Amino acid sequence: MIPYGRQDISQADIDAVVEVLRSDFLTQGPFVPAFETEVAGYCGAQHAVAVNSATSALHIACLALGVGKGDVVWTTPITFVASANCALYCGAEVDFVDIDSRTYSLSVERLAEKLAYAEKIGQLPKVVIPVHLCGQPCEMAVIHALSRQYGFKIIEDASHAIGGRYQNEPVGNCRYSDITVFSFHPVKIITTGEGGMAVTNDGQLAKRMQLLRSHGITRDAADMTHVPDGPWYYQQVDLGFNYRMTDIQAALGLSQMHRLDEFVSKRNAIARRYDQMFSGLSVITPWQHPDSYSGWHLYVIRLQLEKIQKTHLQVFESLREQNIGVNLHYIPVHTQPYYQHMGFKPENFPEANHYYAEAISLPMYPGLTDAQQDKVVEAVREASI
Ligand SMILES: *Cc1c(COP(=O)(O)O)cnc(C)c1O
Repeated sequence: MIPYGRQDISQADIDAVVEVLRSDFLTQGPFVPAFETEVAGYCGAQHAVAVNSATSALHIACLALGVGKGDVVWTTPITFVASANCALYCGAEVDFVDIDSRTYSLSVERLAEKLAYAEKIGQLPKVVIPVHLCGQPCEMAVIHALSRQYGFKIIEDASHAIGGRYQNEPVGNCRYSDITVFSFHPVKIITTGEGGMAVTNDGQLAKRMQLLRSHGITRDAADMTHVPDGPWYYQQVDLGFNYRMTDIQAALGLSQMHRLDEFVSKRNAIARRYDQMFSGLSVITPWQHPDSYSGWHLYVIRLQLEKIQKTHLQVFESLREQNIGVNLHYIPVHTQPYYQHMGFKPENFPEANHYYAEAISLPMYPGLTDAQQDKVVEAVREASI
């Protein structure tokens, strides 16, 4: 089976991990801050907070921005459930903005309409979480202008997009957002096994997230309510979590960062080759906004079902039978049973449903060979007649 995504681990990555195993610190050692500094520097952000997953990063990002009971957070229905669940963890409500028919990410037109209506009924969102689906950055300049007009905060869910660029600047520089979040799950662009990071240019937000990732405990006398009782002393000043990244993970991440640009350019080359090879077939290849250079976490095709004898399910099954590990990203979050209790109806977000009825994620990772890619294209040709 050719998988849809796969990590790329070098001897240098293995050596970096082994070095940590032989050192004094398995967690909270020197590699966590080194990895944070590397990612912040790469992105052009001032602060980075490494955690044990992007899900944790999204959670503490929401908390740092003050999301709580009575607030509403908006995101896209075509994303992994974590982009929406983070608001529920904080006791807030979630609502969705339908997707753009070309990029499949949150539509800025739908966002503008929904904000105008929300202002009228007094239910503006506290935070909007655009998700850079497949690695292609959302139209952040437009979303940012709307945030100024309506007074909401922005968390970029860039779980798919490290190494990507928007208007020729790195994703994660937070020019148009308060916080950007990355995932280092093995199928993502770089990996730490499990892991995530939040980057920001706001020192106060960074400090709050550092506190929340480790129980809400501070060892800094300046942040305590009174002079320390002694050298052993720490204070819990907030209710935090254990969301820490280990030094083992950070060493792997730091080593992977050295190949980030190579990974993303390989993914771009694979995408261009798919684009060319699919011309003439009954599939829609991924459209790219001129402002974006995608990280290409995913390569999603849409079937032109009116031209194909088979159903979406039959094409999907045919590809799996031909040993192509295709997948579907994502099942619209608002249709999940857990979200049904909140009153969402499948028909609320028609563009998202339309996408779900046609989309298939094809194999996309730096180690995919030309021969494997040829096999994928041949299987799609076979399946889509
Ligand atoms: C993978 C992913 C997450 C969650 O990442 P973890 O590191 O597995 O917690 C969140 N949002 C999106 C869009 C993702 O793809």
